[in-house]
Amino acid sequence: MSAALVTGASRGIGRGIALCLASAGFDVVVNYASNAAAAQEVATQVQKRGARAAVVRGDLALAEDRARLVDASYEAFGDIDLLVNNAGVAPAVRADILEAGEESFDRLVGINLKGPYFLTQLVANRMIAAGTRGRIVTISSMSAYTASVNRGDYCITKAGLSMLTKLYAARLAEHGINVYEVRPGIIETDMTGGVREKYDRLILDEGVTPIRRWGTPDDVGRAVVAIATDLLPFSTGQVIDVDGGFHLR
Ligand code: NDP
Repeated sequence: MSAALVTGASRGIGRGIALCLASAGFDVVVNYASNAAAAQEVATQVQKRGARAAVVRGDLALAEDRARLVDASYEAFGDIDLLVNNAGVAPAVRADILEAGEESFDRLVGINLKGPYFLTQLVANRMIAAGTRGRIVTISSMSAYTASVNRGDYCITKAGLSMLTKLYAARLAEHGINVYEVRPGIIETDMTGGVREKYDRLILDEGVTPIRRWGTPDDVGRAVVAIATDLLPFSTGQVIDVDGGFHLR
């Protein structure tokens, strides 16, 4: 059985990815930051699908937590075939880039960009050492290419993930490790819960998402399963939009 490490798997998109992977036969490391009960519930759901689950707390912004997360993942399953860099946070308060403060910037860069950059480094080195022809998927956002001037910090971290994908794809190809960027559109999760009415209007009335519905965590999970089950063996450094056509506009 193959094993996957999914960061931020306690809720939202990460939860959807974890459950889709479990249904596809992957054991899953369910990482979370603070919501232990939600992570445990995901682990139970993974087990109900016939796979094994390991729940590991770890703040991706912290080097010692990243190292502990990787050690615990390999201890749980012996090998990790798939890393999914999913965990991420949005700014607590939106602020125009002419006024935005450094505190939010540092927090977002730590969790959304520095975390995946160095977690990927740790896992990639373990894959190389073990001779694992693994897969690495990073969840970015349409904010990687849309200039939202009231949340520049978030956009910069997501644009950085596009380069992370290209860099690791270029470096790891010789080791048989393929690297992908999955770019979700507007997905129904806690992150978008606070702006539900605005997004309802944009999606359903104005059609910013040409397939006029909210995306679901399951939509993103299915894309990750396609990568994980090697349906794209000759593609690496590739972006896969899971956005109902948002990028067409
Ligand atoms: P949610 O807020 O629903 O879930 C966030 C997840 O990340 C939780 O599992 C949370 O754990 C975890 N997390 C938060 N901070 C940390 C941290 N420091 N270390 C480890 N884990 C952490 O977000 P979504 O599911 O909506 O988003 C998931 C990813 O998808 C993010 O990278 C986001 O930027 C991206 N995305 C989301 C879109 C959307 O429309 N929802 C669109 C495009 C991209 P805990 O439960 O313990 O707090």
